[in-house]
Amino acid sequence: MLSYRHIYHAGNHADILKHITMSQICRHFIKKDSPFFYLDTHAGIGQYELNSEQAQKNKEYHSGISRLFSESAVPEAVEGLLEIVRDMNPTDQLEYYPGSPKVVDYYTRQKDKLHLCELHPNDYPLLAALFPQKRKANVVKENGFAAVKAMLPPPQKRGFVLMDPPYEVKKDYQFVVKSLEEGYKRFPQGTFAIWYPVLGRQQADHLLKSVKATNIRNILLLELNVRDTEKERGMAGSGMIIVNPPWTLEQDAREFMPFLSKTLAEDQEANYQITWITPE
Ligand code: SAM
Repeated sequence: MLSYRHIYHAGNHADILKHITMSQICRHFIKKDSPFFYLDTHAGIGQYELNSEQAQKNKEYHSGISRLFSESAVPEAVEGLLEIVRDMNPTDQLEYYPGSPKVVDYYTRQKDKLHLCELHPNDYPLLAALFPQKRKANVVKENGFAAVKAMLPPPQKRGFVLMDPPYEVKKDYQFVVKSLEEGYKRFPQGTFAIWYPVLGRQQADHLLKSVKATNIRNILLLELNVRDTEKERGMAGSGMIIVNPPWTLEQDAREFMPFLSKTLAEDQEANYQITWITPE
């Protein structure tokens, strides 16, 4: 089943948490001269037109990137994402928002390599058209979970894997954990980031428990809930599970998470967590 289209949600609070975290990971990778590899198991279309009919349907970006775009003083990590957004919107009008491939592409150098998986028959060609240069980015219409097995370890020996499935099928909760175990076995020094939605405490906690049960060390958790997680239906928040995070990420998060929680809050119950699922 492939009914999910990310354009309906582009630029919402969950994208903000995910893309700020990713931008911080990339900033860390480019501190070293040696090339790195990026695997995006669920890449989407790469960038999103916020004036499109789909993005306008629920205007989720209004309570996400729009709120940050108009802020003047923001933490440095937030500035990292805003820099990319401004680069895409040179006239000051917020019209485009980056997807995960564009966030990483902003930081990568010619020597780095992106491998982007997207299965949707309509979304794959859009992503492929955005990255025509095969030498830098390989865009494939393949199952991203299978790519974790096929592409790791990368020849570059340094790398970052993002797993960002839609969770429209419940099995995605199992697939991310299984793929993390498989990927980590092949590439234990790699950085892995798994995004998950908070659609209620129980489901999110079950996922976090399964990740803990893998016994993989050095896993940081960042979770941002913009409203009470139990009161209404729908996505109250989201989280990022990061294996082998940059050593500065926890410290950075102590600055940007309270800021996001305040700026993106939709009710008084907005909250955040910065915890280690397992220490180093
Ligand atoms: N990572 C993107 C970003 O941050 O901009 C958003 C990705 S969206 C949440 C999930 C995407 O995964 C959708 O575009 C969907 O078509 C695609 N998809 C679903 N199952 C997939 C699979 N098994 N392999 C690859 N892509 C898949």
